[in-house]
Amino acid sequence: MPIKTKVKFGQNFLINKEIAEKIVDSCNFTKDDNVVEIGPGEGVLTNLIVNKVKTLTIIEIDPFYLSYVEGKLYSNKKIADELKNKSNLKFINIDALKFDFTEYSKGIDSKIRLISNLPYEISSPIMEKFNKEKDAFKDFTLMFQKEFAGRLLAKSDESARSAFSVIVEANFETELLFDVFKENFYPMPKVDSSVMRMTPLDLNKFKDLKYSEDIKWAASSPYFSYLVHQLFKLRRKKLKNSIYASFQGIPPDVKAKMYEDSNIDLNKRPQSLTLEEFIKIAIKYRDYLGLE
Ligand code: SAM
Repeated sequence: MPIKTKVKFGQNFLINKEIAEKIVDSCNFTKDDNVVEIGPGEGVLTNLIVNKVKTLTIIEIDPFYLSYVEGKLYSNKKIADELKNKSNLKFINIDALKFDFTEYSKGIDSKIRLISNLPYEISSPIMEKFNKEKDAFKDFTLMFQKEFAGRLLAKSDESARSAFSVIVEANFETELLFDVFKENFYPMPKVDSSVMRMTPLDLNKFKDLKYSEDIKWAASSPYFSYLVHQLFKLRRKKLKNSIYASFQGIPPDVKAKMYEDSNIDLNKRPQSLTLEEFIKIAIKYRDYLGLE
């Protein structure tokens, strides 16, 4: 049982070892991997990772648990023996939202494999940060609250589809690995969790070079993000009733024609649009307005 937990740091610890093993096994870590774990808590995942990888860097905001996990790893004789004379294990007491993953990745000359059972409080800002710094990462294995993961993973036509899902889809491949019931944590949170894998989108996979360029633009454009958010502001309305509410600089009939030319049915609602359709419209707006 955890010694003491702080609500403000989202300290709901995983107490089911089999699930911890399932999460770490899903990563297929090798001795070539440079892994960063955010928020080890009592080290239920850390213990299973440390001897499998080339380097492991542990980022924890709570100095108590950072020292706790350090003590725990070195008190395990097998782990301590392996770690002797190696500098492959680092403990950093910092807020993950302030950690510079890009610098870190440059420093080790390698992409990071990130693993974390994330505290709920930082789910949204850390996703924004991962998005901005995605080039520093090989992949992410993340546990979120189930509802948050659902929004993140939602594809077109799914009810949880939101502006957030579209932006994520423009940047990452995502996959739901499995759900974890709330009874597997202490203290028990109010809701269940989901474990998912996220990999920065490989633009080379698109045979269509033009689409690959377009998606690259959309992924990094604040303008694309703005447009998607605008469209979702009136998510319950059909496009024919909502597209006029924003971008007043474009005459209504010009806007309607842009959707028509893109083969997008104005009777649809925003959650039914595919990423490709959002990109098509964004590019038409961009070109009409002469934006970058
Ligand atoms: N990995 C452990 C597990 O699965 O049982 C602990 C997970 S617990 C949900 C979240 C952990 O993240 C806690 O150890 C907490 O102290 C740490 N944490 C909370 N906010 C953080 C932040 N901003 N930066 C780094 N660590 C944070």
